[in-house]
Amino acid sequence: MKRGLTLLALATALFVSTNPAHAEKRRFITIGSGSVTGVYYPIAGAISKIVNKQRKKHGIRATVESTGGSAYNVNSMSIGEMDMGIVQSDVGFRAFNGVGDFKGRKISKLRSILSLHPEPFHIIASEKSGIKTFNDLKGKRVNIGNPGSGQRSSSEALFSVTPFGLKDMTVESLKGSEAPDYLRDGRIDAFYYTVGIGSASIMDIASAHVIKLISIDDSILDKLKKGRPYFVPVDIPGGVYPNNPDPVHTFAVKATLLTTTDLSSEIVYNIVKSIYENFDEFIKTHPALASLTPEDTLKGMSAPFHPGALKYYKERGWIK
Ligand code: GLU
Repeated sequence: MKRGLTLLALATALFVSTNPAHAEKRRFITIGSGSVTGVYYPIAGAISKIVNKQRKKHGIRATVESTGGSAYNVNSMSIGEMDMGIVQSDVGFRAFNGVGDFKGRKISKLRSILSLHPEPFHIIASEKSGIKTFNDLKGKRVNIGNPGSGQRSSSEALFSVTPFGLKDMTVESLKGSEAPDYLRDGRIDAFYYTVGIGSASIMDIASAHVIKLISIDDSILDKLKKGRPYFVPVDIPGGVYPNNPDPVHTFAVKATLLTTTDLSSEIVYNIVKSIYENFDEFIKTHPALASLTPEDTLKGMSAPFHPGALKYYKERGWIK
């Protein structure tokens, strides 16, 4: 009898360790975000909190990684070092299609889960730099972002259509979290940041110092949009940032939550379900999400939906 029980225990242990359904029950998921003072990081944190609260139901535990940003996230997902990541729609588009900075490095296994907030291209200049208009950036010391960040990738697209190029400025490669300190100390004149409205990094420096947000002319936008449908014109409303009472005209991309075909439909389905079942709680986590509706989250995709996400959207009747 005792031997029989031992055999049974052994057989159960073997079944448990080799059964993929059970292995899924203990899945750890990493979500790539951006720098800690950006918007991706708190949003990825909110997603993981919502998922982890329900982990008794689905067995998934999500953790957040602070990363270099969009391009870093797609690269890490492509080599299986990350399961999900928040990625600018333009970076996702270039990566999925193997164009622009992803030429020859097409990542066709990328899949969309949902889209998040708009990310306007913020250009922030210090008062002492004297920069008042876009063209004043010429000859100045400007941060376009660390390699791996979305802003780095988008500014390269931007400066390919402007009257002056990257070679006409002293270009810095600082992270979104470092740039405000450099601006404050006069070590840079301006910085670019593709980030949700109200990012802590910009709010903090705007509250303590006089900074100016710079508009981008529609003529530049028109050129930029040719062949790049993911750039849309937007206004950053006046008054969001201290000392900047007027709206600032610029362009935006969308932040999107991406994964790859490596992740199972069951996991993606359960994550998506957790988010939409707690949608009100989710959008309260950051002002950039405040007006987001479930309908908005299905627009602006750069890659096809992951089948697990699609299953949930079909169940809800949001996609036929
Ligand atoms: N859009 C930035 C990037 O892709 C990150 C912004 C954020 O962290 O909120 O690198």
